[in-house]
This record gives sequence, C-alpha cells and structure tokens, in this order.
Amino acid sequence: MPCATAGAVKALDFAEVATLGYRHILCNTYHLALRPGLDVIRAAGGLHKFIGWGGSILTDSGGFQILSLSPLRRVTEHGVKFRSHIDGDMVEFTPESVVDSQLAFDSDIAMVLDVCSPYPTPPKKLRRDLDITVAWAHRAREHWDSRSPDGNLIFGILQGGMSEGLRRRAAHEIAPLGFDGYAVGGLSVGESRDEFHRVAELSASLLPEDKPRYIMGVGMPEDIVRCIGYGYDMFDCVAPTRMARNGVAFTRRGQLSIRKADLATDFAPLDEGCACFACKSHTRACIHHLYKSHEILSAKLLTLHNLAFYKRLMTDAAAAIEAGRYGDWAGETLAELGGST
Ligand SMILES: [Zn+2]
Repeated sequence: MPCATAGAVKALDFAEVATLGYRHILCNTYHLALRPGLDVIRAAGGLHKFIGWGGSILTDSGGFQILSLSPLRRVTEHGVKFRSHIDGDMVEFTPESVVDSQLAFDSDIAMVLDVCSPYPTPPKKLRRDLDITVAWAHRAREHWDSRSPDGNLIFGILQGGMSEGLRRRAAHEIAPLGFDGYAVGGLSVGESRDEFHRVAELSASLLPEDKPRYIMGVGMPEDIVRCIGYGYDMFDCVAPTRMARNGVAFTRRGQLSIRKADLATDFAPLDEGCACFACKSHTRACIHHLYKSHEILSAKLLTLHNLAFYKRLMTDAAAAIEAGRYGDWAGETLAELGGST
C-alpha cells in the first residue's frame, strides 16, 4: 500500500497511482482527524470522495503517530490524550472514537486503536501497554459490531515489544476476537535487525493462516521479501515515496543515489528492465540534473519509479508463491538487492 498519510501519495496524483497498478492505499486517521477534521470529511461524503480515490483505503488508527509525533501523550485505560503536533490542542482518542472516525471516513479497512510502545520499554510498562491494547481491542470489536458496518473490514493489532511471551499472549487474546485480518505493530521502532526479524517471524506464526497478515510500517525491499516468507500479505511504508524525494531510486541491484556526481553523464535509465514512465523517458543524467536544479519533476519521476519497483516486487513475489518456488525466488532476489548499481 502506498502511503497517502494526509490523503495524497506525495508527488503523484491518483490517476498515476492507479496506472502503476495499485488498488489500495493507506491513509492516517491521526492526521486526517486533526486536519481537515471529521466534519469536513463526513460532509464530503467520506474519504474516497474527499480525496478523489476510487480504490480501497486502509486507515491506520493513530497509535503509532501518537507515539512518534505528539510532544505529549498520556495513555489511560479509557483512551489516549495527546497534544496535537499541528496546533498544540489537547485531543483524546478512545477505541470507540477511532472506530467512529474510520466509519465516518468509510475506510475499507479500519484498524483498532493500540498502544505502540517505544523501544526500549521496561518489561512492567510493556505488560501494561499490552493489557491496555487487549482491552481496547475488545472494546473496538464490540463498538464496531454495534455500528453494523456495511462491507467495511476491521483488523486487530498485535503488540508486545520484543518479548516473545507478550507476543504469544497478544496473539492468544486478540486472535479469538474474530477480526477480518491481523496486523503486527510495534516493529521498526529502533530495534536491531536481528530483533526485528525474530519478532516478525514469531508474530506471523502466531496468527490465523486464513486471514490477511499485515506487518505495519515495513519496509525496505529486503525486509518485505523476508517477511513474505514469514507469511505476511500486506505492507505499507513511506520508504519508496520519502526516499524518492531525497533522491534515492530502488533498483534490482540495490539503491541508487541520484545525487552522485558520476551520474551527470550517465545516460542509462534508473533501472535497466523497468518499464515505468521515468525509465522509459528519462536518463539518470537528466534526473540527476533535475534533482540538482530543485525541479519538482525529479521527485515525481523518482516516486513513480520507486512505486513501480515495489509493485513489481510484490507481483513477482506473488507469482513465485503461485509457482511454488518462493524460497528460490527470495534467495535470488535478496542476492540481487544486496548488489550495487
Ligand atoms: Zn522505472
């Protein structure tokens, strides 16, 4: 899912996003509830109409943004109070209000409110955060059912930090609530690569195989390839779009920094074999020049290319799974991604 945090995939319009083959994007409840606010989106007839996107939308509940953006947050059993990073106002999210917000958006997939623990968190605090996350999952589930949504889906979220015991407990208590899919949160928050992969692999193994498994905020191409192997189906990450704006192209042979001086006369495309508009119509030398000249076209071309790269990665992964050769494909792909351009 490309990230459309505030209702836009940065540097692209939605016709371009759809042309790349994407049918599903991620928007953030936290950002949209603060600005433009629920009333505006409700009056517009929902989020799809407001932003002009005909595909489906998953909205994140805000737990991670409250952790990462709010200068002040206070979690109680009732909900979380935090200071808006936009205007400094105190705001409260509860499991029920977050469900209502996402129903006002008419999100195709809503997420429950969770407590995303920072890294590292002391064991006692981590246990308390999980206790609250589990209680909130129950409340969100009940509130969701009382609203009888028509065709919308809701996913539960596993937390538990880097603790195997807490991750197991989270799955044991949240999986039976019968959500439409399950997400794993609380990763990519500063832990080591080894810790990330240990917890990601464990968490996937604890979740129902017949429901979508979604690892939130992941990731780099190498992580996605490995996480698909663990059993994950869904991903979102700002990397392809954010790094594009910082002059980085993803290629089959690893990352390419468009800023490098030796690209000034490199008339090859960003990635040989890529059929995206940027690769068909522009050379590395041209995009290097556009980037150095602060032309916004460089951000657009690199974003187009990076999202085309991620789309192809996912399509190839799906084909390898269908063909029963995912392990071989993953090995080959990881070896290539570790190379250099
Ligand atoms: Zn390309």
